[in-house]
Amino acid sequence: MDRLRRVSARMLLAAVAACCNADELPGCFAAEVDAHVLGQFALYGPLSRNREYFGYIYLHQGVIASAVSAGGLCKWTVRCEVSTPEAAASIPGGARVLGEWHTHPHSSGSRSLSAADVRGAHANRHIRCYRAFFSRSNGEIVAWSPDASEVKMAMASLVRLGNYRRNGR
Ligand SMILES: [Zn+2]
Repeated sequence: MDRLRRVSARMLLAAVAACCNADELPGCFAAEVDAHVLGQFALYGPLSRNREYFGYIYLHQGVIASAVSAGGLCKWTVRCEVSTPEAAASIPGGARVLGEWHTHPHSSGSRSLSAADVRGAHANRHIRCYRAFFSRSNGEIVAWSPDASEVKMAMASLVRLGNYRRNGR
C-alpha cells in the first residue's frame, strides 16, 4: 500500500513537471471547468448590474459546481467587494476546490483586476489545478494566472474565454 502510494506520488510529480499550467495538468478537468465557468457567467454576469458575484469552483461526487456569494450594492463612493469566506463556507465537505470566478458590475465595475483579486488567487496558488476567472464590466470573460503576484503581471496573463453578453467565444 505504502509502496503503491509512493509510486503514484512519483508519477504525479513527473506529470506536474511535464507541464506548467493548471489548464494543461492531467486530472484538472480543464474543459469541464471552462464549460462550468461559462455557464456561471451566463447566469451571474447579467445579474451583475451593480453588484459582484464570487464563486469557488469545486468537484464533489463527480460533479463540478460553484459555491457562490453575492456582494453588496456598488456605489461610486463605496467599495463593493464580495465576501469570499461566505462562498467558502458553502463548499461541501470532501469537495476538491479547482478555482474561483467573480464578476465585475456593469455600472461602476472595472475592466481590470484589483490588487485584492490578484492577492486572493495568488494565496491559493498552492492548490493543485487552481484557476482564476473574472468578467469585465463589458461582459468579457477572462482567465488569469494565480501565479501572478501583482496586477500588472496578472493582466499580462489574461486569456479570453468569451463574452456573456454576446454568448460567443
Ligand atoms: Zn475583481
